Amino acid sequence: MDKSNNVLYGNFDEDYITITRGDGVYVFDENNKKYLDAAGGVCVVNIGHGVKEIQEVVSTQVQQLAYTYGGTTDNIPRQKLAKKLDEWAPSSMGNTKTIFSSSGGEANEAALKLTYQYHNERGNYTKRKVIGRWQSYHGNTVATLSMSGRTTWRRNNSSLLLDFPHISPPYCYRCPWNKTYPSCNVSCANELERTIKQEGAENIAAFIAEPIIGTSMSGVVPPKEYYQIIRDICDKYDILFISDEVMCGLGRTGKNWGIEHWEVSPDIITTSKGLGGGYSPIGATILAENVWGAISEGSRNVSHSSTYGGNPLSCAVGLAVIDYIETNKLVSKAKIMGDKLLSRLKEELYEVPYVGDVRGKGLLVGVEIVADKESKKPFDSNMNIGHLVEAEARNNGLLILAGVTGLVDGADGDHVEIVPPYIIDEENIEFIVSTLRKSIVNVLSKDKL
Ligand code: PMP
Repeated sequence: MDKSNNVLYGNFDEDYITITRGDGVYVFDENNKKYLDAAGGVCVVNIGHGVKEIQEVVSTQVQQLAYTYGGTTDNIPRQKLAKKLDEWAPSSMGNTKTIFSSSGGEANEAALKLTYQYHNERGNYTKRKVIGRWQSYHGNTVATLSMSGRTTWRRNNSSLLLDFPHISPPYCYRCPWNKTYPSCNVSCANELERTIKQEGAENIAAFIAEPIIGTSMSGVVPPKEYYQIIRDICDKYDILFISDEVMCGLGRTGKNWGIEHWEVSPDIITTSKGLGGGYSPIGATILAENVWGAISEGSRNVSHSSTYGGNPLSCAVGLAVIDYIETNKLVSKAKIMGDKLLSRLKEELYEVPYVGDVRGKGLLVGVEIVADKESKKPFDSNMNIGHLVEAEARNNGLLILAGVTGLVDGADGDHVEIVPPYIIDEENIEFIVSTLRKSIVNVLSKDKL
């Protein structure tokens, strides 16, 4: 063990490359080796690395005012960014108000606290549980990990977790009900009602979901009826619907918000990663009018805050990132490039033995790797296939993400995720497709298995 390095890495046995600079879709390591960043860091670098416009905004804002506390004072970038997010939010949410934080987990934690407050203000003091889905991720605080269905991360902390129920994911490739769409009648959505009844509606505060599933089940897109059924059930039982747009939000899936593909209105949208674009940490919890309205008509005091939430520097960055997306029409670009990426991956990868499913929406794309295509049997999780593919791609100059193991049953199941910056071009797509194909073939060649 190298004692001269004092970083506690996620894995003691892995060699982490040291990235020293970024430019557009590329990053470079300390030996000046170039990598195409099709991971966008971790679905963060949506507008690319080293964007001049953002550098200028950061420099100007730092000189003018880097920090003021949002609990006692206000600042112009915060006001402007909240206004911009209101313009971006689905109009069905009415007039919105946003509370800022510094990460996706904090944005979801704020959503939970404000959900409790919403119910308290209306005299519902027992609505305390949040229903999530298995194979989902909402953050690493105790409350947000409790909402998450990421089994591998839950296990180490199981004694801390809150009593939050989970329903099956909308995973047609391996239907949890062993049914086939559309004759299934979308049982996976209707499972929400069954769970509410079992837990008692008086105990349920909210349902939270990533509209298109991210790192726990890369690129899974629910059927077209799914979220309307969810919305109707939430309304029936006075339960808020939180759309976790930490990955899907701000254009990645080809619309402003992932949930807009279903034309369904959430009560709360949370977002983070791409809002800062990698230039500053920021999280945002966007409340629909009915949610903040209950507080406004009730106690008129929000019992939630954080030191860095709404700081002028992060908000100025968020605003500049959205301006850049608008000016360069990057939401429609994410759709066009996403369609191309998905169709080229399907063309090239379905021929490869071991590629079970290729799926996604816009530039949130996942590839599921299986031991047997016919039976869809997964590899043993100890083989770490997803991570081996990620490492091989990195050797070949491509950064992608190994999805979290366990998408099949909480234990096994390998997948990789491709979430590049929206500025990728067709040449970049060809490099991604050919390098990923080569990496999967190399890792799974018979002599290595
Ligand atoms: N929600 C989703 C959908 C995420 O993908 C993530 C992070 N991968 C989070 C929440 C948590 O964000 P953070 O790591 O910034 O706390």
